[in-house]
Amino acid sequence: MAVQQPPSEPVYSCPNCGGPISFAHQAWQCEECGHAPRHAAD
Ligand SMILES: [Zn+2]
Repeated sequence: MAVQQPPSEPVYSCPNCGGPISFAHQAWQCEECGHAPRHAAD
């Protein structure tokens, strides 16, 4: 059986530059360009 387990910590990629997105200042923000993905409730 080929069942892949999801990672414990999901890694998000910036849709703008592909950089890593980290959770800082109580919001997700790209470390490279500062792009902040909109919240689902927005
Ligand atoms: Zn970015």
